[in-house]
Amino acid sequence: MGVTLGHPPIPAVVYSAEAIATRVQQLGREISAHYRYKEVIALAVMNGAMLFAADLVRQLDVDVALDSITVRSYEQGTVSPGSVELLSRPTRTLSGKHVLLIEDIVDTGHTLNFLKAILWETGPATVSCVSLLNKPVRRQTEAYADFIGFDIDDVFVVGYGLDLDGRYRNLPYVGWLPSL
Ligand code: 5GP
Repeated sequence: MGVTLGHPPIPAVVYSAEAIATRVQQLGREISAHYRYKEVIALAVMNGAMLFAADLVRQLDVDVALDSITVRSYEQGTVSPGSVELLSRPTRTLSGKHVLLIEDIVDTGHTLNFLKAILWETGPATVSCVSLLNKPVRRQTEAYADFIGFDIDDVFVVGYGLDLDGRYRNLPYVGWLPSL
């Protein structure tokens, strides 16, 4: 059954709002245990992770400051394979801090590798990543997220922050969008 919210229809809900909320709670507990007594800077990777980051940080029971980093990832073949552009840096000093990247999805892995390389240059104590979604079959690099919400197959999904040309981010669930 198709679901519409003023958008072209989404043929299938992959992760409902309820399933996401339950998993985000679990991730919050796992991540809080990992960072107990540490000073954490959570970096939402914009724009895709903004909804996930907003929900996840409210489940963290640690000393955490929220900041962001913005990148643009180019599709294969559009510029050069896996090229990523840094559009904005975090405003806080990361030196000596435990940095937690909050990502929407790790697909080929190029974006995560790019982000980790940039962040390590700032002298943090540690750099880790939590990603709502992980597509292991698409990986082209060694990149990995330390905490993962859901492993998914090679399907294109939108919603809960994930977009197609800026649209669909507002959907409260993650839905499958077949290629046109
Ligand atoms: P990478 O291939 O570098 O791991 O991921 C690059 C970016 O591709 C992600 O941050 C995300 O914006 C986008 N991406 C990858 N798979 C999907 C998907 O299934 N849906 C959407 N909306 N974006 C995706």
